Amino acid sequence: MLRAPLGIFGGTFDPIHSGHIYPTIQAAKLTQIEKIAMIPCYIPTHKSSASVTSQHRLNMIELVCQQHDIFYADARDINRGVPTYSVDTLNELRAERPNTPLCFFIGTDSLVNLFTWHKWQEILSLCHFVVCHRHNDEPTTVAQDSALQAILAKHQTSQYLDLHTKLAGHIFIADTERLTVSSSQLREQLKMNTKVEKFIPSNVLNYIHQHKLYQPSDDLC
Ligand code: ATP
Repeated sequence: MLRAPLGIFGGTFDPIHSGHIYPTIQAAKLTQIEKIAMIPCYIPTHKSSASVTSQHRLNMIELVCQQHDIFYADARDINRGVPTYSVDTLNELRAERPNTPLCFFIGTDSLVNLFTWHKWQEILSLCHFVVCHRHNDEPTTVAQDSALQAILAKHQTSQYLDLHTKLAGHIFIADTERLTVSSSQLREQLKMNTKVEKFIPSNVLNYIHQHKLYQPSDDLC
């Protein structure tokens, strides 16, 4: 007998925004998934791809978890202190939870890049994917990608119960609202001091202001 599926949501979350939060909650409702672990990736402090420390990114996630109890923060990748492939994190989770279907939430941009993920075939043997819509032009992008179409032909399901009755191997594309927002866009807007209230929860925005994150002259806070 399998346990209830666990959602997993990995990313940089630099910073976390409404495009991370609301499509994921909507997809979780559509698939009847009640818990989602947010797992921020570790980024070395000397690398320019994260503009604030891992601890700040984690703290901002914790603030979102306080408001949406479907989410909890899982700091395992940050705590390792070295960059980790998703496949390694998933192998660890699978060993901890042998009877729990694992459902990896991603945006369509990540689905389109699935082939570039380290050991992506192994990943599909460890978890399902729940895909949230992201960009308006994505139906064309997905339809024109013949390699992706071949994977979808093998793995896609429209039955959310497949995510509950099998441990891994399905791709469920959830009919979520498209929120065309990204962390990089928000980092630019914060640097230019333009309004971001629409896309960043107020407690996270207060945290950003309090710690003077994403300022014009920031290197790494
Ligand atoms: P950046 O702009 O810095 O590249 P990002 O906004 O894409 O960041 P990530 O933390 O890299 O955010 O994304 C983590 C996951 O969230 C990915 O699977 C991504 O596809 C998904 N995601 C991010 N933004 C959205 C969005 N607006 N709608 C749906 N999914 C999203």
